[in-house]
Amino acid sequence: MDDSCLFCKIATGAIPVAPLYEDEDVLAFSDIAPQAPVHFLVIPKKHIIGPAAIGQEDEQLLGKMLRTAATIAQEQGIGDQYRVVANNGAKAGQTVFHLHLHILGGRAMQWPPG
Ligand code: AMP
Ligand code: ZN
Repeated sequence: MDDSCLFCKIATGAIPVAPLYEDEDVLAFSDIAPQAPVHFLVIPKKHIIGPAAIGQEDEQLLGKMLRTAATIAQEQGIGDQYRVVANNGAKAGQTVFHLHLHILGGRAMQWPPG
């Protein structure tokens, strides 16, 4: 837990969100500034700064995050067509330095991403 971290505050409930899914390890909620008709985030409750900070001890947690994403995508009607994004570092577009998966769907996606 990092007191200055927005997603830690969301993970502890200090800043409330409507959860799409929650358990002791992960939390999923809609992105406040959606970039697609469906855009939600999956975060670990543990404070991990970003993808590059994932440790060997987190490997099971990351699998759970991806499986949670797939389950929610199915529930949201995009289960067979969605993109998973994890930005690492400001130049890659990371603005919140607590690991999160973006799940985007409901529209056609371009490649490469900008
Ligand atoms: P990134 O730019 O990859 O670090 O993604 C951070 C994401 O968090 C952005 O898409 C923001 O729109 C989203 N975000 C920031 N604050 C909130 C919030 N309070 N609730 C939901 N999503 C948020
Ligand atoms: Zn955090």
